[in-house]
Amino acid sequence: MIIDYDVLVLGAGLAGMRAALEAKRRGASVGVISKVHPLRSHSGAAEGGINAALDPGDSWEIHAFDTIKGSDYLADQDAVEIMCREAPRDLIEMEHMGVVFFRGPDGKLGTRAFGGASKARTYFVADITGQALLNALYDTILKEGVKTHDEWFATALYVPDGTCRGAVAIDMLRGELHLLRAKAVILAAGGMGRVYEPSTNALICTGDGHALAYRAGAPLMDMEMVQYHPTTLKGTGFLMTEGARGEGAYLTNKDGERFMQRYAPKMMELASRDVVSRSETIELAEGRGVDGCVFLDLRHLGAELIHKKLPQIHEIALNFLGLDMVEVPIPIRPGMHYIMGGVKTDPDGATPLAGLYAAGECACVSVHGGNRLGANSLLDTLVFGRRAGAHSADYVKSVKPLTTGEEFLKSEQQRIQALLDRPYKGETHARLRLELGTLMDEKVGVYRDEAGLEDALAKVRAIRTRARSVSVQDKGRIYNQALLFALELDYMIDCAEATIMSAIERKESRGAQARSDYPKRDDANWLKHILVTQTPGADPKISYLPVTITKWQPMERTY
Ligand SMILES: Cc1cc2nc3c(=O)[nH]c(=O)nc-3n(C[C@H](O)[C@H](O)[C@H](O)COP(=O)(O)OP(=O)(O)OC[C@H]3O[C@@H](n4cnc5c(N)ncnc54)[C@H](O)[C@@H]3O)c2cc1C
Repeated sequence: MIIDYDVLVLGAGLAGMRAALEAKRRGASVGVISKVHPLRSHSGAAEGGINAALDPGDSWEIHAFDTIKGSDYLADQDAVEIMCREAPRDLIEMEHMGVVFFRGPDGKLGTRAFGGASKARTYFVADITGQALLNALYDTILKEGVKTHDEWFATALYVPDGTCRGAVAIDMLRGELHLLRAKAVILAAGGMGRVYEPSTNALICTGDGHALAYRAGAPLMDMEMVQYHPTTLKGTGFLMTEGARGEGAYLTNKDGERFMQRYAPKMMELASRDVVSRSETIELAEGRGVDGCVFLDLRHLGAELIHKKLPQIHEIALNFLGLDMVEVPIPIRPGMHYIMGGVKTDPDGATPLAGLYAAGECACVSVHGGNRLGANSLLDTLVFGRRAGAHSADYVKSVKPLTTGEEFLKSEQQRIQALLDRPYKGETHARLRLELGTLMDEKVGVYRDEAGLEDALAKVRAIRTRARSVSVQDKGRIYNQALLFALELDYMIDCAEATIMSAIERKESRGAQARSDYPKRDDANWLKHILVTQTPGADPKISYLPVTITKWQPMERTY
């Protein structure tokens, strides 16, 4: 079947739904596809909150400076200015849509502090902020008549004559492939956390959007910038929100010492994430951890605050480790959390590939540069989702409808059938996913060096070769999860390769890229973005773009 829309949105998390809403409000016909039900999109896992400079003692300029400093000066400052100026507008809009943000006893919206922020500007709904935003947006898009195709899995973008005109997707319930033809496509497919093992991200975060764009010829930018979150629960990868430290929790080592005084004496636990993750890694390497972990200590905050403001992480630690954070410190370690890099876009979400937009975690505007500040991602999804929706709705007005696409749909059907028909030769997607993730955590994690990265690249390429013989043992059509896992593995390998190539290329330490062989930031040579573009039949191509500086010149970064 071929279905036509003006704007096709690929992804129903916060970025995708916000984009869809805006395009619809501006008169476009809009279809949204999502490989899970929209309310199961990974945005629903966001705990701590969303940033906006609303308080009279704060300003968008201070928010922008914190963001740029946090990015280690790699963020494009024009895009950061847009995000921070427009943040209050988007936050208030979400409240009007029905999100019940925390209010203090005076009835005013209350904030909590977050890492790298010089003001407490994070607005929140207990520790379920993402879920609250997602529900309000989902209600609203349904009310406004946006069509969603739930549990449809995108396998390829349709790019006839160098312009993106839709995507092929599997309707998972029936196992049928369809072409969703469109005048513009907005990719909002989220992150690639599962390229690493462990990760705070859900199993669905496999970099599909990054890879779909990359295969269609759009460049990926800042891919070496992989954020490790300092507080993931021992043995599980579950996130213990930064909101806990925002409420005053301590980080301690095996001696009960608040070790951040050695690394960030001013900001302590609320230094930016890259700084805290590196500090923990040093504590562990120097033998001041216990069983590969340091501790998050909330005991002094008291039971009432923990139950009221941090109920979800309290429950997670209790359920998974049997530890009550009211009574005991919780073992944590740094874990892969977020990808700053993504499909290169301008501030309206447009990519260099005509007709293709991107927003949210799969995009790189770049507002996070080398390191994202906590609570700036939800903001990024809303601001740039809205802008991509608006721009695409204007763009499609001058685009003529297509009648082609049958052949492309057929070729995708044959490709998927060939994968299903492949005989079992011993390789499974499960084994390769685990190998890939463990390799990335070990060699492309908090600290990196040339030898480890080159080794990782060779091994990822070997995994790519082995993945060509993965067999899908479920031959059925209905909800064939094994088929989807195999397709996701290919997406993950593309993301891993682009990440490692960029990390090898950047011969300095900046933000999340800590090279033990190049320990210093080197503005003279590396104050620039690295882009990776796939080239048919050859190794991916590396290119550069200058960082846009508006008014904040790079300075030494201390916390
Ligand atoms: C545990 C956790 C806590 C966090 N807490 C915060 C926080 O407090 N504040 C903050 O600012 N940020 C937080 N973040 C980060 C933030 O939640 C995410 O970066 C953001 O929500 C991503 O939104 P998104 O719309 O880009 O993608 P997602 O919400 O991940 O949505 C992706 C969508 O794409 C769809 N999709 C993907 N691939 C395909 C495919 N092949 N075919 C069809 N559909 C597809 C999915 O079904 C989904 O609908 C947190 C992240 C984690 C992991």
